[in-house]
Amino acid sequence: MYFMNTVHSASDIEKNLVAVYARMAEAAKRAGRDPSSITLVAVSKFHPRESVLEAIQAGQYIFGENRVQEAAAKFPPIQVVTPEVSVHLIGGLQTNKARDAVRIATMIESLDRPALADALDRAAQAEGRLPDLLIEVNTGSEPQKYGVPVGEADGFIRTCRQRFGDKLRGLMCIPPVGIDPTPHFVMLRTLAQTHGLGILSMGMSADFEQAIMQGATHVRVGSAIFGARSVVGTCV
Ligand SMILES: *Cc1c(COP(=O)(O)O)cnc(C)c1O
Repeated sequence: MYFMNTVHSASDIEKNLVAVYARMAEAAKRAGRDPSSITLVAVSKFHPRESVLEAIQAGQYIFGENRVQEAAAKFPPIQVVTPEVSVHLIGGLQTNKARDAVRIATMIESLDRPALADALDRAAQAEGRLPDLLIEVNTGSEPQKYGVPVGEADGFIRTCRQRFGDKLRGLMCIPPVGIDPTPHFVMLRTLAQTHGLGILSMGMSADFEQAIMQGATHVRVGSAIFGARSVVGTCV
């Protein structure tokens, strides 16, 4: 891997990235999968620009952020210097942030309701670009969580497919805290297979290996790379 050959002394973030990639490869091997079929989205929310720059130094170019405003402040200046850096928006998205989201994101992973689909469609017309889209499914049927309810997922996926075509790439989920996430990963995979969608964004620091065992193509890992966040709550 590129980042194992860098000349500067390894930072904590670099060491953490190396460790996460090694764990991903190990899980892929156990699952009989090609490690290169799994993308690491490094979740840098609440971490400063310097941490992102350290990760870039270590060869990481794909980042995840929950809040549009934070992403819009942090990333465009970095992308001036390193244009290949891309941002996935992974947090609940307000319709009034759709235009900024469409402007800065390579992928929006949290499409979860018709009003947001409308707003993203309008924003895409205005901006002349549309990021890749994932539909977030509330696999645990938790009332406080983002994500389309499981019972409405089939219909919502179909209407989004009609509307966004190939830009609808797949599904994302955040299983409930404190329970075995595997049934949720299986549910998401089954739903994606039913609809012929290729991307499965599932698995975070605590459970990305289990997600890889169940077919995750994208894992969203924050604290295992950047350390604990100073602001807690609101994030999932
Ligand atoms: C914060 C967050 C993550 C990363 O969580 P960690 O436990 O720090 O790895 C992944 N996905 C979403 C949607 C998040 O909000």
